[in-house]
Amino acid sequence: MSLNTLLLTPWMSPARVISWQKAIVLSFLGKVEVMQEYEVIIHSPSTSLRIPAVVRQRRTPHFRSKGPAFSRSNIFLRDDFTCQYCGITRDKAMLNLDHVSPKSQGGRSAWDNIVTSCYPCNQKKAGRTPEQASMRLLRKPVRPTRLAKSRMALLREESVNVPAEWEGYW
Ligand SMILES: [Zn+2]
Repeated sequence: MSLNTLLLTPWMSPARVISWQKAIVLSFLGKVEVMQEYEVIIHSPSTSLRIPAVVRQRRTPHFRSKGPAFSRSNIFLRDDFTCQYCGITRDKAMLNLDHVSPKSQGGRSAWDNIVTSCYPCNQKKAGRTPEQASMRLLRKPVRPTRLAKSRMALLREESVNVPAEWEGYW
């Protein structure tokens, strides 16, 4: 059965897509609460249960204390898979990361100096600052406190069919 479960953050934004088997395990362990179920029922020798369609992570100290990790995929997520120079939206394979202030000019690898860029813009800008290259940033990059996945980001990251049961949760 190739049903997937949509995992939500404690604050109800889509986190990622997991297998229904994993969703059942997490639910059994009390780590998630089930928000929506599929019509499908699975039977085991001891019990029968419905497959979770949407689950939500329970709030734990872990979620409060740590901000999103500084990573390639989280930068794409923050920028919504959108080139921060020309505004084009691409799959992650068609995007790369750009140092706003170039490394060669002392630019750091940090949330406030790295943006999502398409390859043509990255090439055009080369080792220059946006001012030197006469290119404008769509918005100033900042360190995010939370990352919520838009519907589009989720689809760009995970190729899944979207079941009707997810409607209203993402
Ligand atoms: Zn671009």
